[in-house]
Amino acid sequence: MLDCLATGWVSSAGRYVNQFESMVADVARSKFGVATSSGTAALHLALIVAGVQPDDEVLVSDLTFVAPVNAIRYVGAWPVLVDAEPHFWQMDVSRVEQFLTQDCHRSNGATINSRTGRRVRAIIPVHILGHAVDMDPLLDLAGRYDLVIIEDATESLGGTYKGRPLGSIGRIGCFSFNGNKLLTTGGGGMLVSDDEQLAKHARYLSMQAKDDPVRYVHEHIGFNYRLSNVQAAIGVGQMEQLDRFVAAKRAAGDRYDRGLANIAGVGLPAERRDVFSSRWLYTVLIDRDRYGMSNMELLTKLGEQLIETRPLWQPVHLNRPYRDATVVGDGIAERLYAQALSLPSSVGLTDADQDRVIASIAAVAVAR
Ligand SMILES: *Cc1c(COP(=O)(O)O)cnc(C)c1O
Repeated sequence: MLDCLATGWVSSAGRYVNQFESMVADVARSKFGVATSSGTAALHLALIVAGVQPDDEVLVSDLTFVAPVNAIRYVGAWPVLVDAEPHFWQMDVSRVEQFLTQDCHRSNGATINSRTGRRVRAIIPVHILGHAVDMDPLLDLAGRYDLVIIEDATESLGGTYKGRPLGSIGRIGCFSFNGNKLLTTGGGGMLVSDDEQLAKHARYLSMQAKDDPVRYVHEHIGFNYRLSNVQAAIGVGQMEQLDRFVAAKRAAGDRYDRGLANIAGVGLPAERRDVFSSRWLYTVLIDRDRYGMSNMELLTKLGEQLIETRPLWQPVHLNRPYRDATVVGDGIAERLYAQALSLPSSVGLTDADQDRVIASIAAVAVAR
């Protein structure tokens, strides 16, 4: 950062942007990285360069932070909200298959939603909480139905699926460097891909689509979505600590697992055998009957002891802009939402902090 200030390279050009892009692309085992001003901007650009058109449909997780769904609307397309599976709480790929085989038909090489008549163009699996969506069957479906996969890996940098880094498995992967993510640039994001044309197109659009930067000639409508050199410099410093951050998250996850294992009514998060989760956010399920209070009652109780916790996101289909959206599923996301509570998970958390959280959760169970 001091170097940026000393040299005057503080804005959207400079060597740290390039360095940060190659560091993230390396970790995501992708050929190209395009730094953006946010993860949401990366998702927006990804949808455009993937060729998603107004009135297309895009499959996306229902149990997610809302950003990828909003990005689908930014390009004028419509989300089809896919329920979560109950084991790892990720997009339920069997529901994707159900939708494609039962509700869609093929016409001239395109996949059409038979009910709406709209073309289904892409899938955004959201790897939530550091864990992974089951990608192999999803890749298979995408191949059979000619769909582009854009991974929302904003919560899962550093995680892998069958040894493959999250964000590197679909055509495009998106990351976020917001303050609450595994690593941060204050605000920022990145799109990664092995496809040079897609990456070039995204970079061009992120800098106002300048066809002749000297004479201000623009053949397309661009965006001001570029990450600044100062933010990228922070990102470079953060990337140097990525392994330490992931190790800290995983150690904290293990400590919570051990401490909470024997408390009746507290369900622990699971990790698939073939997944390496960054364990970005540690979330438990509170069974009100067995534990003695609901997740939101526990949130209040812990709050009184200055321990901040959060439920998961209200499933997207319950938010006003998406109440009419197509939902494929069976209410699993709603059930998880009614029980989930995310515990303090920062990489700066000490063992003593964690033990206090564990003791407070145990005390409620003992008191009843
Ligand atoms: C944080 C997040 C985003 C958006 O990232 P920003 O950098 O905040 O725009 C997108 N998708 C998911 C699932 C997220 O958690």
